Amino acid sequence: MLTGTAHLFIPGPTNVPADVQRAMIVPMQDHRAPDFALILQTVLEGLKPVFGTREGRIALFPGSGTAAWEATITNTLCAGDKVLMARHGQFSALWADMAQAMGLQVEIIDVAWGAPCPVRELERRLGADRHGEIKAVFVTHNETSTGVTSDIAGVRHALDSCFHEALLFVDGVSSIGSIPFEMDAWGVDMAIAASQKGLMCPAGLGILAASPRAMAAMDASTLPRSFLNLRAMLAAHQAGSFCFTPPAQLLHGLRASLMRLHAEGLETVFARHHRLATGIRAGVAALGLSTVAEHRIFASDTVTAIRTPQGIDAREVIAIARDRYNTQFGGGLGPLAGKAFRIAHLGDLNEGMCLTALGIAELALKAAGAPVTLGAGITAAQHVFADAAAQPALSIAAE
Ligand SMILES: *Cc1c(COP(=O)(O)O)cnc(C)c1O
Repeated sequence: MLTGTAHLFIPGPTNVPADVQRAMIVPMQDHRAPDFALILQTVLEGLKPVFGTREGRIALFPGSGTAAWEATITNTLCAGDKVLMARHGQFSALWADMAQAMGLQVEIIDVAWGAPCPVRELERRLGADRHGEIKAVFVTHNETSTGVTSDIAGVRHALDSCFHEALLFVDGVSSIGSIPFEMDAWGVDMAIAASQKGLMCPAGLGILAASPRAMAAMDASTLPRSFLNLRAMLAAHQAGSFCFTPPAQLLHGLRASLMRLHAEGLETVFARHHRLATGIRAGVAALGLSTVAEHRIFASDTVTAIRTPQGIDAREVIAIARDRYNTQFGGGLGPLAGKAFRIAHLGDLNEGMCLTALGIAELALKAAGAPVTLGAGITAAQHVFADAAAQPALSIAAE
C-alpha cells in the first residue's frame, strides 16, 4: 500500500494547487448567463500577458493541446499548402504527422532529438523559397520529450531577414506560463497552449492566440472546420460564451490559476522555473548522468530528460520510483523509450519538491543498478538553491 503524498513529476498534467482545485468545486451554472461571461472575460484578459500579447485574440476549445494544433492548421491553411517545420522530438513529430494527415505538404528538417529547431537551416530553406510557396512555419517552443527550448525570436529573425511572409505557428504547450513567451514581440501568428501544464489546471482546454495576420489568413483558408471553428469561437467569446457547452469548472480553475500567476508575478514565475531547473540540472550532472538536451544553452527550464547509463533500462527506474516510492517520473517517448526518463519542473513547484525528485531518482537509479552516489544530486541542487537565496539579485545563468 502506498502512503503519504504521491509525487507527480510528469510534464502534464502538473500539480494543481489546492486553491485551484477548490475553485473548481462549484455548482453547475448557465453558460449563457452574465456571470459566466464575466468569468470568461477575466480568463481571456488574464491569459493575454501570459502569452505576451495585446493584439492577439484568444480562444478556448474543449480538448487538449492536440486540439489546438488541429485548430491552428484547419483555420488558417488550404489543402496542399506547403509548410516548413523541424522534427526534433515526439511533439514536433506528432504535429508534423497531423499536418500531413490534414493534407498539407510538409517540408521537414530532421535534426537530432536533443537539438533545438535549427534556425540557420530554417533560414536557408526560407531564403531558397523564391516564390513564397511556404505558407507557414511550425515551431515547437519547448520539446517536452527531449527537454529542449527553441529560439522563437531567432525564427522570427530568420523569416524577416528573408522577407518571407509565411505565418509563424508556435506550440507553447509546455512553455507558456512557465518561461518567457512573447507572442507580439516574436511575431507569432498562432500560439498554442493547454490547460494542464504551466497553467496548473486539469487537462481539458486547448488554448489558442491568433495574431491579426492569422485572422486575415482565416478568410482565405479553405480547410474544413466545424467543431474547431476559430472565427465562430472568437465571436462566441466576444458575446460572453462558447459555441457549445463549455467545461465551466475548468474556467473557474483557470481563473484561479491565472490569479496565482499574476499574484506571484510572471517575472518571478519565470525566475523560479529557471532556478529550479538549474538545481535539477546541477543534480543530474553531479550524478554523472547526461541530459537528452545536447547543450545547457537550450536546456528547458520546464522539463529535463535524463539518459540512463548504458545497460540501465529507464522503464525500470520509472517503475521503481512509482511502485516503491509513490513517485511518478515521465517516460522516454518514441526512440527514447527505455533510454531516458523525465523530471518535469513546471507549474506549482518549489525547491523541496525538486529535492524530492532528485532524491527519489537517486534511489530508483541505484536500485536499477546505476552507479550513482546517493545524495550527490541533492547536494548539488541544494548548493544552487542556497546560492540563489544568498544572492537573490544575481541571475544564476552561470550554471
Ligand atoms: C503536452 C504537449 C502537447 C499536447 O498534448 P495534449 O496531450 O494534447 O495536451 C503538445 N505539445 C507539447 C510541446 C506538449 O508538451
